[in-house]
Amino acid sequence: MKHFQLKDSHGRHINYLRLAVTDRCNLRCFYCMPEKGIQFLDKKELMTYEEMIRLLHLVKTLGVNKIRITGGEPFVRKDLIHFLKEVKKDIQPTSFSITSNATLLHHYMDDIPDLFNAMNISLDTLDRERFFAITRRDNYELVVGNIQALLRSGVGVKVNAVVMSGKNTQDILPFVEWTRKENIEVRFIEEMPFNGSRDSKDVSNWNYQKILAHIKGEFKDIETLPTPPSSTSMMYQVKGFKGKFGIIPAFSRTFCGTCNRIRITAKGQLRTCLYSSKGTDLLPALRSDMPDEQIQDIIINAVLHKEKDGFEAAERRFGPSSIYESMTTIGG
Ligand code: SAM
Ligand code: SF4
Repeated sequence: MKHFQLKDSHGRHINYLRLAVTDRCNLRCFYCMPEKGIQFLDKKELMTYEEMIRLLHLVKTLGVNKIRITGGEPFVRKDLIHFLKEVKKDIQPTSFSITSNATLLHHYMDDIPDLFNAMNISLDTLDRERFFAITRRDNYELVVGNIQALLRSGVGVKVNAVVMSGKNTQDILPFVEWTRKENIEVRFIEEMPFNGSRDSKDVSNWNYQKILAHIKGEFKDIETLPTPPSSTSMMYQVKGFKGKFGIIPAFSRTFCGTCNRIRITAKGQLRTCLYSSKGTDLLPALRSDMPDEQIQDIIINAVLHKEKDGFEAAERRFGPSSIYESMTTIGG
């Protein structure tokens, strides 16, 4: 196996992988998927856990030491918890995390604190009816209950909230208020057009400046917190509050210059940018008798061609007839 540090042609070191373990989900968040779902992958098109573990070994020796599990909803994949334990034990990433909608966490609360110091949980509103309108499922109490259970178990919680015009902007201030007494991090995400639908509009006008100005209108004493250079979120804290809040300019794409990440979709496609529609299919290589070094060469070459930023990737992607993929296909 090759030992090497992945680097792209723009001089960025790549050490962070977001691995989607499924494209399926038990919610139907309207900004992510149409109500009827998408054309989900057949089981045989999905990477097996064994294939994923092999891939993780391959990228580990290429310098990837930070792993986030995502999807679709990771916990809808059967036996996920065994896979997570294996990753933690065999791969030993320096940073290991997961993004989940939290609807199924109560089944795994005994194991989660040993696996993760913190989890990213998606929750776009603090109102039960709006939760239903956004996710098309009636799981608000379950999600909030599971967030509270995580906090009681000492697992840190980062709440991801997509900000959408006409849907949940009235939740921005209550979310910040939530950080007064609770040691949580709420991160407001600009909406992106990845909803798996042809009628996708170029998303809402709630960009990061507008979100911050709205918060500053209510909370006067806000401190800017330091963040690592590769961080996608700008972090803040209202003075005296226990928790923090952040803003992720996912659509404005101000953070691309320091991007350190790649994605692998549930069908084993390597994506070098969230905004690119093309990827490199690794599954045929994994299912052939290709030696490790050759598969690593494919990865090294794909990373070398990583797009300069999300604008360049989108330019290459969106022809007149192109549709916007669902985030569950890309691996959020
Ligand atoms: N099911 C899990 C969840 O919801 O946390 C993991 C997968 S989800 C695709 C990962 C993240 O992508 C979530 O935080 C979700 O809010 C975000 N996301 C999905 N579609 C988006 C969109 N169109 N714009 C911005 N964020 C989006
Ligand atoms: Fe499912 Fe997450 Fe997409 Fe919502 S954002 S539909 S929870 S994958």
